[in-house]
Amino acid sequence: MSNLSELVAASRLPGEPIHTPMFIGGKPWRGSQDERVVRKSPAHGVAVTSTQRASVADLDAAVSAARQAFDDGRWSRLPAEQRATVLLKTAQLIREQADTLAWFETLESGKPLAQSRGEILGAAGIWEYAAGLARIVHGDTHDSLGERMFGLVLRQPVGVVGIITPWNFPFFILSERLPFALAAGCTVVVKPAELTPTTTLRLATLLAEAGLPEGVVNVVTGLGSVVGQALADHPDVDMISFTGSTSVGQSVMRAAAGNMKKVGLELGGKNPQIVFADADLDDAADAIAFGISFNAGQCCVSGSRLVVHRSVEAELVERVRAVLARVRVGDPLDAANHVGAIVEARQFAKIRGYIEAGRESQAQLVCGGESSSEGERYFVSPTVFRHVDPRGALAQEEIFGPVLAVTPFDTFDEAVALANGVPFGLAASIWTRDLEGAMQSLRAVQAGRIWVNCTITGGPELPIGGFKQSGIGRETGRYGLEEYTELKSVHVQLGARARWMA
Ligand code: NAD
Repeated sequence: MSNLSELVAASRLPGEPIHTPMFIGGKPWRGSQDERVVRKSPAHGVAVTSTQRASVADLDAAVSAARQAFDDGRWSRLPAEQRATVLLKTAQLIREQADTLAWFETLESGKPLAQSRGEILGAAGIWEYAAGLARIVHGDTHDSLGERMFGLVLRQPVGVVGIITPWNFPFFILSERLPFALAAGCTVVVKPAELTPTTTLRLATLLAEAGLPEGVVNVVTGLGSVVGQALADHPDVDMISFTGSTSVGQSVMRAAAGNMKKVGLELGGKNPQIVFADADLDDAADAIAFGISFNAGQCCVSGSRLVVHRSVEAELVERVRAVLARVRVGDPLDAANHVGAIVEARQFAKIRGYIEAGRESQAQLVCGGESSSEGERYFVSPTVFRHVDPRGALAQEEIFGPVLAVTPFDTFDEAVALANGVPFGLAASIWTRDLEGAMQSLRAVQAGRIWVNCTITGGPELPIGGFKQSGIGRETGRYGLEEYTELKSVHVQLGARARWMA
């Protein structure tokens, strides 16, 4: 095999799968069954990485390492300044390793290399932000309780956190959670998605290099139905932060009930782009095309529904079509391509199923609809359907592919009803030049994230999360960090206490 840095520099495929072990108790962990799973690049049909399939015994070892590391205070009782130093050092190592991490991310996920690189560098910025936040975690004092009483509210780390992540943004989504849990003083067991575990495993070694004490972060790879489930069930885990599908989120919530774990759930979306008649249509068209094509539509905040005023519907759809006509789909290692591969055969078949159902419905196919799975390489071109029944599957269900469903509206109330008329409430974009209209819409639309005259943008400062079946709790920002804490109220008697039995 060629040297890793040469392969990365040349954006080439490895000659044989590159193995990365699990990470438990500060060390590489072989796994009790040493069973390996090979991942093929979904854009090339070639085996690129291998990882272990953990057993429940491995998961128990990881939880036990995290439990011990939490209980002895090696991390939670460190001065926050020292925790911040480790997070900052980690950010620096992520930046130094950005090319390699991005290369692995692209090989396993199929996303364009430049996008992967942007996500890795963006993730480094989140680690830096969380490092600052570590130093401002604080509680409250209540000096208003009278002469003889003083009140304190302590904000303490919740304990051992299990973080379960999906395959669509493996490194970025992890970085929206892990540094916040660490900033709060928690210890962690991470279970990355089966399809994209390598960058998470490599991050564990960077954390060790940055000086993170042993056992504070442990990574276990393997099947969600086995190790993910065991993590959600585990009586020694105090909180689960789960990001993934709504159906698995429901099962995680049921499992968490066993020992009343705290849960954070970031789930699916069916996000509307709401375009009013006075919007800048060129700007909106560009963003709508981006919103459905980004990450090949495999994005929880993908703008998969276009809810548009009837008077501009035809014109806007034509402009979206014109932008999409310039989108190049193909090999994510080729810098000329904007959209890479679909992550795997099952997801590809699911998207194809929705496109076929759309063709057979009364909806009109405007563009796209083509796909290819030749040589175990999975590509779907961005697809737009007009005249979509708002109650039908195309408009109601999360496809998680580059498929846009267009539905017109006539009145403001109808726009809001369409926007809110799905079980999800993750994100929404509003396009208008009218300030009052924008304000009234953002008040009325049920979504955890709203973009006005922009889409899929932001940073770690603001919280993210969903309404309705899109989740529970928030990640990132001050609120995100607070999710990884518990509050403790303390009343301190000053002077003599009034006796019960005088
Ligand atoms: P998924 O639910 O299939 O898997 C997510 C993770 O859960 C994986 O690590 C998987 O191994 C694990 N898992 C599977 N079964 C489990 C079980 N029984 N118990 C515990 N863990 C289990 O989701 P996916 O296919 O990887 O990702 C796509 C989904 O994720 C989409 O629905 C998307 O909307 C959602 N998502 C949401 C956000 C968000 O922030 N709201 C972000 C990204 C993805």
